[in-house]
Amino acid sequence: MIAIGAFCFPLIFFYANTAGDDLEKAAARIMGDVFVKNSGIRTLRVLSDEIGPRLTGSEAAHRAASYCLDLLRNYGLTNVHAESFGIGDWLPGQAVAEALEPFHKRLRVDTLGFSINTSPGGLVADVIDVGHGTQEDYEKAGPLIKGKIVLAGLQDPADPAFATKEWQKVDFAARKGAAACLIIAGAKGGLTRTRASSYGGYSPIPAVSVAYEDGTWIRRQLEGRKTLKLRLLTQNTMTGRAVAENVVGDIAGKERPEELVILGAHLDSWFLGPGAADNALGVSIALETARILSAPDLASKRTVRIVLFSGEEEGLLGSFQYVNDHESELDKVVLMVNLDMTGLMYPGVINPYGACPIGDKLGEVLPMLAGLGVTQIDARYPYDSDDFNFVAKGVPALGLQGRGVRDWSWGHSYADTFEKIEADKLNMNTAAVATIIYFAANRREALSRRLSQPEVIKYFKERNLDKILKQEGTWKKLGFPGEN
Ligand SMILES: [Zn+2]
Repeated sequence: MIAIGAFCFPLIFFYANTAGDDLEKAAARIMGDVFVKNSGIRTLRVLSDEIGPRLTGSEAAHRAASYCLDLLRNYGLTNVHAESFGIGDWLPGQAVAEALEPFHKRLRVDTLGFSINTSPGGLVADVIDVGHGTQEDYEKAGPLIKGKIVLAGLQDPADPAFATKEWQKVDFAARKGAAACLIIAGAKGGLTRTRASSYGGYSPIPAVSVAYEDGTWIRRQLEGRKTLKLRLLTQNTMTGRAVAENVVGDIAGKERPEELVILGAHLDSWFLGPGAADNALGVSIALETARILSAPDLASKRTVRIVLFSGEEEGLLGSFQYVNDHESELDKVVLMVNLDMTGLMYPGVINPYGACPIGDKLGEVLPMLAGLGVTQIDARYPYDSDDFNFVAKGVPALGLQGRGVRDWSWGHSYADTFEKIEADKLNMNTAAVATIIYFAANRREALSRRLSQPEVIKYFKERNLDKILKQEGTWKKLGFPGEN
């Protein structure tokens, strides 16, 4: 963590020797534009209210991509295009769950993403409660799981970075021979919450999210009796392969156009709600940054590239595709900034991701951001979402964290809707992001060189992240050496 006060002296000196005045002028110009135009909230409203849920590969996701391509062209960006990739075709359908005892009770459920189907008549089985659903919980329940419907949730006791993901709970259940899996949603008020039920591909067994109130009701029933019978039905549509696309556009650099500053945000969402916070918000900030920095008086030395990823929710698929397709350019990426739900809170902390030593250099831009409340640089999270694929390739990356405690209990639910977003927070985050991008695109020296694969592996191992990355198959997918 770097407090702003500690850096005042050397920074003032540093500015006198570099483009400090220019940076200050640019920051003032950027911030005036953001707050006076106030147009990010309009983009957000189109994405969330008019286009709606943007499930990867769906019709709405393609409409969202077209809308963003048009905006980038209207803002005068060059090299505006979509980069397509294949994904398993899957559309959500009916999900029904009902307890058959002690009285007939319809439960609030929704399918998890990419869940397979039960037979058309559904399946009837006893429920077994495995607590949080960690690997140890499954080991403890052992052979009792076979043939049953597993109930797992609410949350893991561990550090969130190491929390058992939904698809892992489904995977553990399937390995023990479960018939299906119910995962309790964390938010109160009848909300279900979707996430991927597999890591790429379809789930091994039917998997649904059950509302908090119903999930905890089942749990209480099981305390008082040995068994509880449930009927479960899932009927989703799987027709083969679909096409997803990343949206790309450039603001060409004036002096070193081959050097890139990438601003990324995922455009896809889940299907229950319109994903206003996750992540129409990040997309709106990226598009606003594109609009502002494409003004001729804010032209940069380096190229600023906007990349709106698809397939984030299914396992960072779009960013994985991007770093592999653009491998030959990665040495020239001086910074990748990722926006995922950025703007839900007031901005507070620049979070460098990965091992690139960019922290003190980012201290140079901090004085410009103090008025927005961005006063810290803290590598509190090793990575967040699509930035991971850049971190894994040794590219310098960062995100912007908010001030205070984030309430996102309604994430991935029906309730991730437009009215949750406040324009002033959106604008303050946009002002900070656009200033950071401008800074990185104009700094005389690059922020950091790209790290080698052994350096990246060392970083993951030092933080004990290799275990989880191996467990989820990411290690192998990245082509890292060693057992998987
Ligand atoms: Zn997200």
